[in-house]
Amino acid sequence: MRHIFSGPLFLGKNLEFVEDGFVVVEDGMIVDCGRGRKNKAKRHSIIPAFINAHTHIGDYFLREKFTGMPLDKVCGKDGLKNKYLNSTGDDVVIEGMKSAIIEMMRTGTCCFSDFREGGIKGIKLLRKALSNHDGISAKIYGRPDNPDEAFLGECDGYGARSIRAEKIKRKKGKSIGIHVCETKSGELKEAMGFDPNFLVHMNCAGKEEISKVAGMDIPVVVCPRSNAYFGLKLPDIPLMLEEGILVCIGTDNAMTNSLSMISEMEFVFRWFMDKVDAIDILKMATVNPAKVFGWNCGFIEKGADANLLLLDESFLKTPNPYATVVLRLSAQKMEIMLEGKYACNC
Ligand SMILES: [Zn+2]
Repeated sequence: MRHIFSGPLFLGKNLEFVEDGFVVVEDGMIVDCGRGRKNKAKRHSIIPAFINAHTHIGDYFLREKFTGMPLDKVCGKDGLKNKYLNSTGDDVVIEGMKSAIIEMMRTGTCCFSDFREGGIKGIKLLRKALSNHDGISAKIYGRPDNPDEAFLGECDGYGARSIRAEKIKRKKGKSIGIHVCETKSGELKEAMGFDPNFLVHMNCAGKEEISKVAGMDIPVVVCPRSNAYFGLKLPDIPLMLEEGILVCIGTDNAMTNSLSMISEMEFVFRWFMDKVDAIDILKMATVNPAKVFGWNCGFIEKGADANLLLLDESFLKTPNPYATVVLRLSAQKMEIMLEGKYACNC
């Protein structure tokens, strides 16, 4: 099916704002796009759909179960989350994951990268939840249920709990992501020994550690709402950007945060108001994670997957359309197109 849209949009991987542009969608792809008005097109403001660079949707069924409790009591190998994950029926966990996926789709997310607990069995539960939802795509970062479990053949990479919790092993063609410096600094050196493809958190990292990561060209996924929830230091995003790190944002544990990238972007913009530009925040939710995880979306370009958010034409017509997206999208009605099909109208 062919769709033609025209109106204000962000064009290409630099998210260049075009006041009057067009997008042609066919067979799930963007087959043409550019500047100028198209006849017989549907008029919209057009934004690339979001990529959530870090989730744990397996714990969605535990939402608000641990409100007010500190991180060390809730997370970690011996934390309450793990206790409940191990003692809850598969159906309950899968139903929670399905709800998490719907929450993502409703808030404009087309792809997500999930750290999945529970070894091969945990990976299979997520695949089962995903099988009901065409259009949304996931990269699954598993971890072994026991030290000898050969789980990497079943997923996209290794999502390590921490440098202390497990012996991280590499497999050819699989990437590694590690939670680092979430509650304290000084973990970087050991993490680097595993040659990670990306790091998660770095909120407690000092200047020296941030410079080192920048020098090694390792992307960082930050989850500021999660850090704030647990009363932790927030990541120094302005310094990360200044040092040239490719920064992505993720919503982290579904038990403590909604899966809305709109909320995450707004939180970052308000917290760092005069220190981080809105366009850079939008990149952290689109083109940057597309690059890190290898998705062909997060940008409006010929040949990209047609994952788009369609809003009222007037929405982006402001002096700063990037700020408009990160500050006001939560209050807008939008149609969400995933792989060229209308996924929801909400
Ligand atoms: Zn995490």
